[in-house]
Amino acid sequence: MPPIDLRSDTVTPPTERMRKAMAEAEVGDDVYGEDPTVRQLEDLAAERTGKEAALLVASGTMANLVCQLVHCGRGDEIILGDQSHIFYYEQGGSAAIGGIHPRTVPNRPDGTIDLQAIEAAVRADDVHFPRSRLLVLENTHNRCNGSPLSADYMDRVAATADRCGLKIHVDGARLFNAAVALACPAADLVARADSVSFCLSKGLSAPVGSMVCGSREFVAEARRARKVLGGGMRQAGIIAAAGIVALTEMVDRLAEDHANARRLAEGLDGIEGLAADPAAVHTNIVFFEITDRRTTAAALAAALAEAGVLVLALDPFRLRAVTHYPLTGDDIDRALAVVGKVL
Ligand SMILES: *Cc1c(COP(=O)(O)O)cnc(C)c1O
Repeated sequence: MPPIDLRSDTVTPPTERMRKAMAEAEVGDDVYGEDPTVRQLEDLAAERTGKEAALLVASGTMANLVCQLVHCGRGDEIILGDQSHIFYYEQGGSAAIGGIHPRTVPNRPDGTIDLQAIEAAVRADDVHFPRSRLLVLENTHNRCNGSPLSADYMDRVAATADRCGLKIHVDGARLFNAAVALACPAADLVARADSVSFCLSKGLSAPVGSMVCGSREFVAEARRARKVLGGGMRQAGIIAAAGIVALTEMVDRLAEDHANARRLAEGLDGIEGLAADPAAVHTNIVFFEITDRRTTAAALAAALAEAGVLVLALDPFRLRAVTHYPLTGDDIDRALAVVGKVL
């Protein structure tokens, strides 16, 4: 039997419909703006996020970097959560490539940032200081239990950003997980954002690709930034065709992943020596901890891998499991049985 791979929702294989769409995609040279399938995907992404325009890029990391490069010049400052993906997992690309200075403020366990902390982090106009340009939010918040940030919070944070003269970028790698969990159109979650990125290649199961969405003017600049990063692709309609299937056929089913994640969290929490917090699980990411310290996260992950269940060891006693297509409730029950036996 193949392993039950809960390391990430990036391991999702393309669906049969995606493979067929890719094989049959009409293509052209996208750097010349001549790929009709890419254009169709970009129009669809813009519509789903309520923005004027969109751009296909290679990855979520590239999407976030492109957006930062458009919003900020060298020496400008971004304000972002201390648990954010951009701060943790993108090689410091903001600084390394963009010359952009990151200023972290604490993320609360639900992925939000205190509005007063944002305001307090904004720099005065002083020759000693970098200029505060951009506020970055993450929705859902990967390291904070995959928490969805509500439209109400996004509205309040936008009012603060407006008052402080900050633009807003939403790292929405899993924006559609948030939309499904909150039963709220994705566009409502990013209505006040100046830019948003989301991944096609995570729970939506496309093999490659992320989208950058914003105003027509913003996306025109993002297109330049993508090119200088080496991200101008040619017959990218092959990729875009799968992205169209991702957006039209794979969004609603994310609810299954969320139900499976809760089932997994409840099961893990019921195993002696482990703790998970099912009440904190609203989307597809589950964190769990070895409470009695009988083994380490790394050793447990290795033993589980031997037994056919793959999870990620994140901290010495903390692990992560992510539910995704095409895993079923039965797969989750099988995984739980393996965890119980191995422990
Ligand atoms: C995965 C992820 C990214 C980066 O996406 P890649 O396609 O892996 O580069 C960015 N932000 C968040 C919140 C993510 O989970």
